[in-house]
Amino acid sequence: MIETADAVVIGGGVIGASILYYLAKSNVNACLVERGDIASGTSGRCDGNVMASDSTPGYDSDMAKLGAELFPGLANELDYDVHWSNRGSLIVFENEEEAKVGKEHARKLKERGVPVRLFDQKEVHEDEPYLAPDIVGGMETACDGALDPISLTIGLVMGAKKLGATVCKYTKVTGIDRNGKAGFVVRTDKNDIATPVVINAAGVWTADIGNMVGLDIPIRPRQGQILVAEQTFRVARRKIMEFGYLMAKYSSTAKRNVTPDMEKYGVALVYEPTHVNNFLLGSSRQFVGFDVRSNYRIMRAIAQRGIRFFPVMKDINIIRSYAGVRPFCVDHLPIVSDTQIPGFYIASGHEGNGIGLSLVTGTLISQMICGEKLIIDPTPLSFFRFENQIANVSL
Ligand SMILES: Cc1cc2nc3c(=O)[nH]c(=O)nc-3n(C[C@H](O)[C@H](O)[C@H](O)COP(=O)(O)OP(=O)(O)OC[C@H]3O[C@@H](n4cnc5c(N)ncnc54)[C@H](O)[C@@H]3O)c2cc1C
Repeated sequence: MIETADAVVIGGGVIGASILYYLAKSNVNACLVERGDIASGTSGRCDGNVMASDSTPGYDSDMAKLGAELFPGLANELDYDVHWSNRGSLIVFENEEEAKVGKEHARKLKERGVPVRLFDQKEVHEDEPYLAPDIVGGMETACDGALDPISLTIGLVMGAKKLGATVCKYTKVTGIDRNGKAGFVVRTDKNDIATPVVINAAGVWTADIGNMVGLDIPIRPRQGQILVAEQTFRVARRKIMEFGYLMAKYSSTAKRNVTPDMEKYGVALVYEPTHVNNFLLGSSRQFVGFDVRSNYRIMRAIAQRGIRFFPVMKDINIIRSYAGVRPFCVDHLPIVSDTQIPGFYIASGHEGNGIGLSLVTGTLISQMICGEKLIIDPTPLSFFRFENQIANVSL
């Protein structure tokens, strides 16, 4: 049986859900196809930070700030609690050398309009009294926030369904046929769907979907691991990150005062309080394919890093650990773009920022498809920035 839709979104993670929602808001008859449940991929195995402060000053930070600004409106618009909180974030400096690099990062972000404020040693401890006494300072970013990523993804899908969108869960895309001028036939293990527009939002599996139409999409999985603490007092009232996290993210040559395991697994402090009064503690970065098993050495390194910044954590129990795989794109920018194939779009590769960038991505793809004015210039996100991205495609 062939069904029809104006657009087929492949992937029921936060990116596909957001695209579906904004398409539905623009009255596009869209269908989302997800091989598992909603948020069963990376969007169900991550933190929920919405941050401009950890972006690279420039286009990256402009997009992150814009992305963050869309959340308060959406939280009011959805008939579903996504647990949005807008307490800002604090990035802490472990020593003077790091503070020097951090202050420069803060200055450049400020130049781009990101609301940052520097704290000296006294101020940073007044802000978070449980921080280790030798932490030398920090950087507060007021526009940063946090939410529950699974609730966000489900809320967007439910919002889209209310507006008339179709959702096919437990339905795997198995192939995509080009259908002459009419567009595509998306083959699934349940039924086929004829459509003029396909959006590939399959996260770390984006390359597999790309192969189905002959596109070679440079996205691969980068694992990150998280610890979950028992319910406890507020160790810190908002999101705290060590500046070394940015060094681990952008520069493999920067030297930090860490153990060999922390170095090997790219472990840096990321603390996130949740709305149920426990906290999440991360994180790590490594390329191990699609493996989402927790690794004991990484768990230990994350816990040690947590205690280094918050000594009170040594008496708090960890109740769970999980890992997810970030959709990593080689230049740390996502691909939000049309392609050489008319009607075929890519929205993927957000690495560690897919939650924060979900709304700006959904808005942008919807505007591209509907021919509307774009919320931000998408040129740096274009798929065309990669050479040799066409494998077997016949245009
Ligand atoms: C440990 C960790 C911490 C993180 N913390 C943050 C954070 O604090 N803030 C932030 O902004 N980001 C964070 N991220 C990154 C964020 O989680 C991702 O960028 C985001 O979830 C990616 O969403 P997605 O929709 O692209 O992918 P996914 O959520 O993986 O969705 C893709 C979907 O496609 C489906 N799919 C694949 N193939 C097929 C097929 N053939 N047919 C049908 N469906 C298919 C999959 O089942 C999957 O559900 C973190 C990631 C990790 C791992």
